[in-house]
Amino acid sequence: MACSRFEYVKAFERHDRLLPGCWAVIRLDGRSFTNFSKAHAFAKPNDSRALRLCNAAAEAVLRDFDQHLAFAYGESDEFSFVLKRQSALFARRESKILSTVVSLFSSAYVFYWNKFMGDVPLKGPPSFDGRVVLYPTTKHLRDYLAWRQADTHVNNLFNTAFWALVKGGKSQRESEEILKGTSSKEKNEMLFTEYGINYNDEDAMFRKGSFIVSNLPSGRWGGEVSLKRTREGEAASSECGMAGGDGDGKFVTLHVDIIGDTFWNENPDLLAP
Ligand code: ATP
Ligand code: ATP
Ligand code: MG
Ligand code: MG
Ligand code: MG
Ligand code: MG
Ligand code: MG
Repeated sequence: MACSRFEYVKAFERHDRLLPGCWAVIRLDGRSFTNFSKAHAFAKPNDSRALRLCNAAAEAVLRDFDQHLAFAYGESDEFSFVLKRQSALFARRESKILSTVVSLFSSAYVFYWNKFMGDVPLKGPPSFDGRVVLYPTTKHLRDYLAWRQADTHVNNLFNTAFWALVKGGKSQRESEEILKGTSSKEKNEMLFTEYGINYNDEDAMFRKGSFIVSNLPSGRWGGEVSLKRTREGEAASSECGMAGGDGDGKFVTLHVDIIGDTFWNENPDLLAP
């Protein structure tokens, strides 16, 4: 029975159920963070505090949708959340899922700002865009994650070289010119011979991004190790080894290779249906 004669307008709403049985990736990205990072004097090329703030906001999302999200992967001002194939969260309504995840991440980012950014005043409300992409097979999902981590690598190597040049006295324009068309190998060599920077010694959080999961049943994380369990609202530091001994936190933040097979072979449950 209709509540009022106006209720017919509800029929104009669009049904937007995500296909059943598919992985769904919810990716959000900071709006105009080039400006936002300048306005808040983020360290360049990477402000660890800001990255750990994003990780804490992502944990808040994972905590709230614990049974529905498999894990999350983040870098720079973006985060990808992977919705389990069998999840019936909000009856798989896309707009409800997307808007809730993006707004929860945004409010958690502000909520935890002072905890990570100390006395840096937050000058205005940050915002994030979001999208949902369906991946019908696990190979598609693996390739999606590999694409994001390859992006982390390419951007971070470029930014590390760029800011080494700038901090070494070159203008931003000159630095861009110098790096134009250079290969990864050339950037690595330039960093090492001219600035004494061994790129592989850079913080794994910068090079590999952050992979966050509520537990790792195997206790194995493959290859390069960098892990910390965290308590509510704390993001992991990116020290190598099993940093911190508390072990009572729920979340594990890893900075590991997710392009190759090792990590996934050691943790098959992460991609289980
Ligand atoms: P858009 O609204 O289209 O996303 P954007 O300015 O946010 O525009 P991105 O491609 O998302 O563009 O790039 C993010 C920007 O924020 C980059 O310039 C990056 O250097 C900066 N940034 C994000 N996080 C950090 C961080 N932790 N430390 C330093 N800089 C950061
Ligand atoms: P959902 O997540 O499905 O939206 P909900 O609990 O938010 O669940 P709504 O139908 O949106 O359900 O109802 C909003 C609830 O919040 C109502 O119970 C309403 O009484 C309460 N509420 C919202 N704003 C106020 C307010 N300003 N003063 C008092 N109560 C409020
Ligand atoms: Mg963008
Ligand atoms: Mg952005
Ligand atoms: Mg971005
Ligand atoms: Mg309501
Ligand atoms: Mg409501």
